[in-house]
Amino acid sequence: MRTPMIAGNWKMNNGFAETRELIGELNRKFSCKIKVSIAIFPSFPYLYESSRLLDGKAIRLGAQNLHWETKGAFTGEVSSMMLRDVGCEYVIVGHSERRHIFKESDEQILLKLKAALQAGLHPILCVGETLAEREKGSMEQVVRAQLKGLSELTPEEITNLVLAYEPVWAIGTGKTASPEAAQNMHAFIRRWIRKQFGNYLSDKMIILYGGSVKPENIRELMDRPDIDGALVGGASLNADSFSAIIQGACETVKE
Ligand code: PEP
Repeated sequence: MRTPMIAGNWKMNNGFAETRELIGELNRKFSCKIKVSIAIFPSFPYLYESSRLLDGKAIRLGAQNLHWETKGAFTGEVSSMMLRDVGCEYVIVGHSERRHIFKESDEQILLKLKAALQAGLHPILCVGETLAEREKGSMEQVVRAQLKGLSELTPEEITNLVLAYEPVWAIGTGKTASPEAAQNMHAFIRRWIRKQFGNYLSDKMIILYGGSVKPENIRELMDRPDIDGALVGGASLNADSFSAIIQGACETVKE
């Protein structure tokens, strides 16, 4: 059995006051044990305060990016050790905005994955095709290339990894992949993991869906066998919509 996960990527949003308020509301709503794991990903300057506010609570903390070196002359960068120091357990790696806006390559993403794992963080590796790639029918080829670097990781490292299928055309656009299209890609990803690492690890792998997830579509997505939760952008910025997504996800969990 996989424990589903709902992750909120705040991107470059929420200042101090909003961070405090949102975490306060989420802590109040999800103070007891619930059936899914929840994690939030505030911006770097608010991680320490977030960690303090989440101490002893149900919600876990993650960062949106990291650098692969542990320290040194890398002006403006943040290392895995620093993220651990301020209380992060997760880190997003290879988000499509990092790949497309900041031109991160699969090689750099693999270095980041290795650095995160080495520091004991759980990386959430994002993969997904653009609209042009989908229209050409090359989405499996694209995602296979993005997954390729994982074959350099050990089975133990793979157990600490979370995957997120995020079709680029669905991120922040209001267009969600149909549950069937998302399930097909999740099943493809799980088969790829099975081929590389065997049944045990592929059965354990948490694969999140990301791309315009809302309270209205979380249930139909999570009803699919290979969709284990969601990486949520826009709808995670509001306590009511994020909580409704978490509640929707809990309802899909079989006892
Ligand atoms: C994301 O940023 O990972 C994302 C899925 O954003 P949104 O939910 O806003 O589409």
